[in-house]
This record gives sequence, structure tokens and C-alpha cells, in this order.
Amino acid sequence: MTKKVNGLFLCEECDLLYRKEELAQKCEDWCREKKSCNIEITKHAVNKSELSL
Ligand SMILES: [Zn+2]
Repeated sequence: MTKKVNGLFLCEECDLLYRKEELAQKCEDWCREKKSCNIEITKHAVNKSELSL
């Protein structure tokens, strides 16, 4: 399950944030299964430095 954080969606496996739940879910499924990140997915991640948390 992805977690919603400040209107964004978190991959709980790798801690990357996405604007779309679909992408966060894809990332999480991939991370869990492959134990690595998929650049085709992670390129859509939100840069944390852009966020004012
Ligand atoms: Zn991930």
C-alpha cells in the first residue's frame, strides 16, 4: 500500500514520492519484487528538495 503524504504518494520501499498514486504503486511493486529501482519509474518521482515540508 502506498502512503499519501502532503498530497503526494510515497513508495514505502524506496521512499520516493510521486504525484500519481498509480506511479507510486508501480514503483512499490517493482521495488518489492526486484529489490532495485526502475529508472523508467523513478524518473517520474518528485524531487524532495522541491518540496517545502
Ligand atoms: Zn520504490
